[in-house]
Amino acid sequence: MITAEAVINLAALRHNYEQLKQKCGNKPIIAVLKGDAYGHDALKTAQALPQAEMFAVSRIEEALELREGGITHPILLLEGCFCPADLQHASALGLETVIHCEEQLAHLQSTPISTPLKVWLKLDTGMHRLGIHPCELHDYITQLEATQKLSGPVGFISHLSCADNLTSPATSAQVELFLAQTAHYAGAKSIANSAGILYWPESHLDYMRSGIALYGISPNQNDTGQDHGLRCVMTLRSQLIAIRKHKSQHSVGYNQSWTAPRDTHIGVIAMGYGDGYPCSAPTGTPVYINGRLVPIVGRVSMDMITVDLGPNLQDNVGDNAEFWGENLPIEHVANHIGTIAYELVIKLTKRVHKRFMAEPLS
Ligand SMILES: *Cc1c(COP(=O)(O)O)cnc(C)c1O
Repeated sequence: MITAEAVINLAALRHNYEQLKQKCGNKPIIAVLKGDAYGHDALKTAQALPQAEMFAVSRIEEALELREGGITHPILLLEGCFCPADLQHASALGLETVIHCEEQLAHLQSTPISTPLKVWLKLDTGMHRLGIHPCELHDYITQLEATQKLSGPVGFISHLSCADNLTSPATSAQVELFLAQTAHYAGAKSIANSAGILYWPESHLDYMRSGIALYGISPNQNDTGQDHGLRCVMTLRSQLIAIRKHKSQHSVGYNQSWTAPRDTHIGVIAMGYGDGYPCSAPTGTPVYINGRLVPIVGRVSMDMITVDLGPNLQDNVGDNAEFWGENLPIEHVANHIGTIAYELVIKLTKRVHKRFMAEPLS
């Protein structure tokens, strides 16, 4: 019997792609599939989005998995190649790569490659994590072109640091700087992530890059994917494996961290940090069972979570419990736990069975 499962709704994924296209005037979207498509399964996600213009991943192994799975779309390596051998693999696999530093430029200059590479130059416009300083751009372009290893014009990419903060002046400043620095070049430009697509029309340049919103999740802690017309793709659920009568003033679980204020029923669900549900989820974090939200009480164990089902029992062993998804926005759960939804979806372990479906859950 399957207990812990992540139901992945591929129809919702396609809906989200179309919604995002509408929001950016039908411009091309690079579907970001890093981290096994944020825990949704990269190959299945890519196969469900044949209409996507392009995919992106962070590591060459992730691109290899897609190619081996038969994906022939352009695939961008968001952080580029980390060594000369990767550059040769990227060329052989027909990947597009980012160059964000001197070492990567030197590797391209010194490494023989079988097929010309499409290169995107990464500019640091304010994130200050990766990227060349905008004043170095001309020099980089000259050196890149001199390698004669490029397929097509150099593209330009930059990353927004504060796009989920609707009042920060940083985003407009980054977009302005990016546009000013790249104005004289013909190559494609890309700066918008999901938050850029949803909140900052000025960031809608030649290519969008969307990760989290594709999966129906808002990049912003203060709203939900649903508020943007997106549909939840992943529903994480499991089953009640025990229901126990519980006396007032009795505690539950490790460290006796919660004590019942009244006689009640404790439900035990087959889910825990061994499945990737955070151990740090505090008492009060909601779980959806039989049409209502009930609180987690006591500590999350490796394989079990205890919830307060209340004095008036309406549940049975074997009933479904949803931890996030169609009935419980993951953004709310993340806020309770003090993390971001990105981390919740990506940390599920392989013990969680993934079930793919093309229609909403009943
Ligand atoms: C992960 C990533 C994205 C996607 O970000 P979301 O917030 O998930 O849309 C876009 N660009 C780069 C460079 C990334 O690393």
